[in-house]
Amino acid sequence: MRALRLTAWGEPPALAEVERPMPRGSEVLVQVEAAGLCRSDLHVIDGAPGSLPYRLPFTLGHEVAGRATALGPDADGVAVGERVVLYGPWGCGACDRCATGRDNYCDRRDTLTWHGAGLGRDGGMAEYLLVPSARHLVPIGDLPADQAAPLSDAGLTSYHAVAGLRHVLGEGTSTVVIGVGGLGHLAVQILRATTTSRVLAVDVREDALALADRSGADFGTLMRPDTARVLRARTGDAGADAVLDFVGTAKTLELATGVLRPGGELAFVGSGGGCLTVSKPGVLPPGFRLSLPFWGTRPELAEVVALARSGALHVESERFPLSAAPEAIGRLRRGQVRGRTVLVP
Ligand code: NAD
Ligand code: ZN
Ligand code: ZN
Repeated sequence: MRALRLTAWGEPPALAEVERPMPRGSEVLVQVEAAGLCRSDLHVIDGAPGSLPYRLPFTLGHEVAGRATALGPDADGVAVGERVVLYGPWGCGACDRCATGRDNYCDRRDTLTWHGAGLGRDGGMAEYLLVPSARHLVPIGDLPADQAAPLSDAGLTSYHAVAGLRHVLGEGTSTVVIGVGGLGHLAVQILRATTTSRVLAVDVREDALALADRSGADFGTLMRPDTARVLRARTGDAGADAVLDFVGTAKTLELATGVLRPGGELAFVGSGGGCLTVSKPGVLPPGFRLSLPFWGTRPELAEVVALARSGALHVESERFPLSAAPEAIGRLRRGQVRGRTVLVP
């Protein structure tokens, strides 16, 4: 089968012919219908040798939807022919966290040479994906594959980040979303569907702000030197109750902390390389609270799928055949993608 393989750090992944895996034990073979391309894939491809614990080579792709086509003799919880979305974080499978579907916070994470499918283990940018157990799959019914695949990460990570802020997002509050790309446009929709907070969106691209508007944001503005002031004015000068930063550079973190009101909460999601200094006294608002959400839990993925099936989430996606992965990666690098890119084998 064809698969998009990462074979050397700092070099572009390449399509290669590899053997189609055979499920053993509790494993499930999924015929891939679509795999999302995430900015994290670029961070992995560009990784300096030694910066990630992964062993090369492996197949990329951590956002996957498809159909279970073969089961190992001990597999249960999924039927052959069932359509599914992947729960991508794969932990040790044995700790308390993994046992309750919270592989994203596996207690043995530091001892693993992977973070999940397509992240140190073979992922779904291929014709077939071998999944260790049906507990890593959530049924999707008739949800189209290009809608379902991005729920694995863009949907789940956004949902988990919003869930961590929900206690401060009541009536009359405001939330700033920085970066309205694959994750951000779903975060806007999840905020609209699951909270009553007003949503203020920021991006460097006009087309991303148009996407924020279509996703239900109440206001959108370009990232400029005076953006903190513009956003504050939209909160009656009090400041925002919460910020979701899907970029994570020094500039966006400065905006985030500059726009928060006292007691405000920042969810730092983007892997843009920025860092925050916590000090007292310092520039952070009093009562400032920070979360560093990573991906999400399996129960949350089921909730995201339910939201999408109810019609509350719509993934804006651009489809490419798997053979055009290099072109799709180039478009993502150049900031030309609207919403999510989905690769179809
Ligand atoms: P994306 O490229 O689809 O979206 C990023 C958006 O941010 C784009 O619309 C871009 O125009 C905008 N942007 C770039 N620079 C900006 C700036 N200075 N100010 C405002 N907007 C700016 O990326 P994505 O796939 O949505 O991923 C977003 C980030 O989240 C990446 O860094 C990714 O690695 C990270 N990520 C983290 C987790 C996690 O679990 N914490 C999970 C998935 C992705
Ligand atoms: Zn990702
Ligand atoms: Zn574990």
